[in-house]
Formats: sequence, structure tokens, C-alpha cells
Amino acid sequence: MTTPSTHHSPTDTGWIEVICGCMFSGKTEELIRRVRRAHIAKQKVIVFKPQIDTRYRSDHIVSHSEQSHVSVSVKDAKDIMELVDEYQVIGIDEAQFFSSDIIEICNTLADRGKRVIVAGLDQDYRGVPFEPVPQLLAIAEYITKTLAICMVCGNPADRTQRITKSQERVLVGAKDHYEARCRKCFEPPVESH
Ligand code: ZN
Repeated sequence: MTTPSTHHSPTDTGWIEVICGCMFSGKTEELIRRVRRAHIAKQKVIVFKPQIDTRYRSDHIVSHSEQSHVSVSVKDAKDIMELVDEYQVIGIDEAQFFSSDIIEICNTLADRGKRVIVAGLDQDYRGVPFEPVPQLLAIAEYITKTLAICMVCGNPADRTQRITKSQERVLVGAKDHYEARCRKCFEPPVESH
């Protein structure tokens, strides 16, 4: 099962959905699709993103395909708890930029009956699992792995190739620094020790 939206949805309980994948795989687009559908059903929706992501407008999440949705930027995952009481559906984008506090927060929100939809990178530019997303996958009821298209060979791609030399784990900014690559074409960076 991928998402409850295409199947029988749980009643009288919250749950966690994780949308993960590499860059350019449409994670934010899929998050926006789900929260828009909830809006249409007149559910109360709020979307958060970490304040580190200042690529585009600070009050929206924006996909590479330029879909956008209003969002609230928070410095710390804990800030989310103070803002969600009246909402039924909680979207969280760029989960890999939050501290591990986000794991407990998602669990608590789901325990309180909320639908929590989290999108994030599941691997960093070295192909290493990018916490806290692996931990979120473990506690989620529903998981969607979105694939991109390898920019070298056209195969389905799930890795993010950094094409600049920086060794920062977090390098915000999109197209100029990264490509989607498949397993065959992905070249792990040479680490300097
Ligand atoms: Zn390839």
C-alpha cells in the first residue's frame, strides 16, 4: 500500500505518511497534491518547512515544477507542536533538515489523531541514509518512494549526485549543484580525510 488516499482510510486515528526519494523526484509536488486534496475535502491543513530552506519564498513550499502551497517556516521541530492544535492534516517538507526531535513530534501528532504527511530526502549526496528520514520511514504507516529519471542514462533514479565539490552535508539550492542519478550512474564522492 502506498497512500491511504487510494485505499480505505483509517478512521478515529491519526497516522504518518512519508514521501521520500532523491532530488527532482517530485516529493514536494506529491506533498502539495495530498494537502490540496485535503483542502478540497474541507479539512484544516497546515504545512511546515525548516527555516534553513530559503531557496524560494519563505512562506510557501515550492516544487521544482513550480507548484506551491502556503507554509510556515519553523526554526526548530519543537515549534510545530505549538501551532497545530486546530489542524487535522499536518504537512512537513524537507524533513531531512530537521533534528531528530521531528520523529517524536510526528508520533505524538499521529497519536493525537492527526494525519501527518512528511516529505524528505532519504539519502544524502553520498548515498548514505539521511536521518531523521530513515527513522520516520520505520514508524510510518504509509511510505511512498518517488523516483526521478537518471540524468545520464534515463533509468529510474533514486540517488542525488552532487556535481560541485562542496563536502557540506547540507548544501541548499537545487539545479546547479545536483543531478538525479540511478544506481549505475551514481558516483559517490571521494572523501578527504
Ligand atoms: Zn543512470
